[in-house]
Amino acid sequence: MERINYQREMENILRILPDNQTKLLLHCCCGPCSTQVLSVLKKYFDITLYFYNPNIYPREEYEKRLKELIKVQSIFSFEKEVKRMDSVYDDRLYFEAVKGLESKGEGSERCLQCYAFRMEEVAKRAKEKGFDYFTTTLSISPYKNAQELNRIGEHLEKKYGVNYLYSDFKKKEGYKESIRLSSEYQLYRQEYCGCVFSLQEAGRIKERKQNGKEI
Ligand code: SF4
Repeated sequence: MERINYQREMENILRILPDNQTKLLLHCCCGPCSTQVLSVLKKYFDITLYFYNPNIYPREEYEKRLKELIKVQSIFSFEKEVKRMDSVYDDRLYFEAVKGLESKGEGSERCLQCYAFRMEEVAKRAKEKGFDYFTTTLSISPYKNAQELNRIGEHLEKKYGVNYLYSDFKKKEGYKESIRLSSEYQLYRQEYCGCVFSLQEAGRIKERKQNGKEI
C-alpha cells in the first residue's frame, strides 16, 4: 500500500484554516506526547483535550498520566486557554475491544483495535459537541503506526461526518522535541505503552536485559 506523508497532509490543511478559532477535539494519550502536539497546533486551533484511555492499567497509572496532562494543560493555557473534556475510566471497554487479541505483541492487530476504539469515541464526541476537527497525539510515538492511525481517522471522518486532522507528529524531530519539553517541564514519562499486556511485555524485556540476554 502507498505510504503517505501525513505530516505534509496536515500542513496542507493548516495552510487553509480560516482563523485560530477552528475547534479541535484532541485525543491525548499522555502529557509528554501532548507537549509537542500543542506547540504545533495551538496557534491554529481552539483546542479541547480529551484523555480517553481506558486501555491504561492499573487505574493508579491512569490517574498519574491524567495528572500530568492537567499540568500540561495549565502550562499551555498561559497565552490562550486550552480546554479539557472530562472522561470516565472503564477498562472493560478496552478488554472488549481487544478480545481474542490479548496475546498479540505490541504493534500488532491488538494495537490497531486499541487505536480504533479510542479514536472512535473521540470522533463521536467531536460530532456530538460540534467540533470542526478531531485528531490524536498518538502519531508522535515512533512505536505507533502513523499510516494505520490516519487510515482509521479517515474512516471515522466519513462515518461521523467530522473532519479528521491528518498528522504524523513524530516527523520534523517532533518526538525528540516532546522528550525535550517533557524534561523541561519535569513531566513523568511512563516506561510502557499503557495496557496490562504492554506492562507485562516491558517487564519481560527488562528482565532479559538484566540477565544479559538478547531481546
Ligand atoms: S500496547 Fe499500547 S496501543 Fe497496543 S494495545 Fe496496549 S495500550 Fe493499546
